[in-house]
Amino acid sequence: MSAKSEIEWTDATWNPVRGCTKISPGCKHCYAEAFAERFRGVSGHPYEQGFDLRLVPDKLAEPLRWATPKTIFVNSMSDLFHEEVPDGYIEQVAHVMQMAHWHTYQVLTKRAERLRDLLQTKLVFASELSHVWWGVSVENKKHGLPRVACLRKTPAAIRFLSVEPLLEELGELNLSGINWVIVGGESGHGARPMEKDWVLKIRNQCRAAGVAFFFKQWGGVQKSKTGRMLDGRTYDELPERPVSKAASQRIRLDLIETIDRWDSGFVVA
Ligand code: SF4
Repeated sequence: MSAKSEIEWTDATWNPVRGCTKISPGCKHCYAEAFAERFRGVSGHPYEQGFDLRLVPDKLAEPLRWATPKTIFVNSMSDLFHEEVPDGYIEQVAHVMQMAHWHTYQVLTKRAERLRDLLQTKLVFASELSHVWWGVSVENKKHGLPRVACLRKTPAAIRFLSVEPLLEELGELNLSGINWVIVGGESGHGARPMEKDWVLKIRNQCRAAGVAFFFKQWGGVQKSKTGRMLDGRTYDELPERPVSKAASQRIRLDLIETIDRWDSGFVVA
């Protein structure tokens, strides 16, 4: 959706799906829903239909139009593995990531079982791509830890956790097979508090396991005031990004034409 992002751990966002439905407590103050619903009914606006789930095949080719390598958060305004997104459409999204290989993609979901099942079957080709990172959201023990267990069984070159909004102490985490952990507190009106001790316990486990740790923010009602310092410093670690040169403009235009010929008849289930 945007060639530039304000999210601390990514460069750009790409939304070939828009809209979602809530699935667990981490969704309570979903920023994507709040943003999208502001534009419901605004004729011609990308979020004219608010947060209703829909596919946006016109956006599929977008990464091929960006010649400069970027880190791209896939579906910042949705969940690619939402149960109503057809398998065939998810495959198309994955094929675009395969084609535009000079970018690094961060795919984050709360539907960890579907992620695991598809990467073991129809998306095996994508599980082998080192420039596509697959992650799950973790907000608490009850909903988050089963997602971590699913992710650990998911074939992937790079696996990550987005522990945001962190709502309680997570206890012992099994970080084997996990490459990256992002932690952040909730921000905005009604933000639920996050305790320093919860964050330190995760940071220390990442340190012990050799896992890259990124501290995004404390959050709160005024996140600019609480900032992102933890014990006197910032934590901005990421897994190493593979380096790959962009395809020539001619090849990129050919690939865009190929995508334009794909079946665009998918509809939400
Ligand atoms: S899964 Fe993500 S995008 Fe969907 S409602 Fe929850 S927080 Fe929002």
